[in-house]
Amino acid sequence: MLDQETIAAALAELDQPAYRTRQVYEAVTRGLVTSFDDITTLPRDLRRSLAERLSPLTLTDVETRAVPDGTARKTLFATTDGHPVEAVLMQVSGRATVCVSTQVGCAVGCAFCASGRLGLRRDLRAEEIVDQVLHFARVLRADGRGRHVTNVVFMGMGEPFHAYDQTLRACRLLNDPHGFGLAARAISVSTAGVVPGIDRFAAESLQLNLAVSLHAATDDLRDELVPLNRTYPLGAVFSACERYVRRTRRKVLFEYVVLRGVNDTPAQAAALAQRLRRPLYHLNLIAYNETGGRFSRPAPGEVEGLRRRLEKAGVSVTVRTSPGGEIEAACGQLALRRDAGC
Ligand code: SAH
Ligand code: SF4
Repeated sequence: MLDQETIAAALAELDQPAYRTRQVYEAVTRGLVTSFDDITTLPRDLRRSLAERLSPLTLTDVETRAVPDGTARKTLFATTDGHPVEAVLMQVSGRATVCVSTQVGCAVGCAFCASGRLGLRRDLRAEEIVDQVLHFARVLRADGRGRHVTNVVFMGMGEPFHAYDQTLRACRLLNDPHGFGLAARAISVSTAGVVPGIDRFAAESLQLNLAVSLHAATDDLRDELVPLNRTYPLGAVFSACERYVRRTRRKVLFEYVVLRGVNDTPAQAAALAQRLRRPLYHLNLIAYNETGGRFSRPAPGEVEGLRRRLEKAGVSVTVRTSPGGEIEAACGQLALRRDAGC
């Protein structure tokens, strides 16, 4: 992906008229070209000169896994400096949602998450984030069924608010009406609870959605599951969420990966209900995808039992069924396997 400034700078060096910038930018973000050669409206020698200076692609796809019914497909990419990046396309109930990564690995190190085990290698650039979406936009176009990317969620590898500037730049690029043109309301950013990030996000002019990964309702358990809780404990996270709601009047989506016998106890459910029984708060329960650690996945009936208990206690709550279990769609899993050489 290339932004307008980069394209304009290259074209200026080549003494090209200004209108060419829009032409190339549209070909990249709407025409989804992967090579300047495909921009047939440009003179042949200009295409060659651009190719000597720039590339429309920042990622190469390395491996794709798909569930047989086509509801989920996950692609492992490599950055130009050889890092693994992964993204998932989910097609459920008429939506085509792309889940993107914002970092190579993650510094937070949640106890149940494969991305954390990689450690943090580096942040992704906005172009590398957007390229994950453009890749799946091409896949959908090649399918020939008239489908488009309808939603983007920042829920892949990495902590988006640890890469705040590039994350927001990616949101703006995806939203740009002259470019990819995805509605801001169709974009959701998920954080493990970086309080200054939530405050910055609340002040953004775009109507983006905020998701907060909770996973525990008491500080002692959350300290263990999401180590970031030692820096930003639950009280601080919920104060920031309150400020966000007051300022934006928008919903906050809370995510809760259900770990059997760990965070699905009656005591956790009661503490959770206490925190979440409130307008504009919604909870998503996600059954843990086993990644080879010490946790186990709850049975569907157990997740449903927890949902009912919370609903009875006044929480707005749904169970998110992730279609990607068989292809290890939980964040970091594919990249980690590659990293381990298997
Ligand atoms: N770092 C951000 C965004 C990426 S994680 C965050 O934590 O919010 C996106 C979601 O995937 C989180 O809610 C995370 O807890 C969940 N997740 C991670 N590993 C998982 C696993 N093994 N099974 C199910 N969900 C998982
Ligand atoms: Fe990082 Fe999110 Fe995984 Fe925690 S769940 S290690 S914050 S990517």
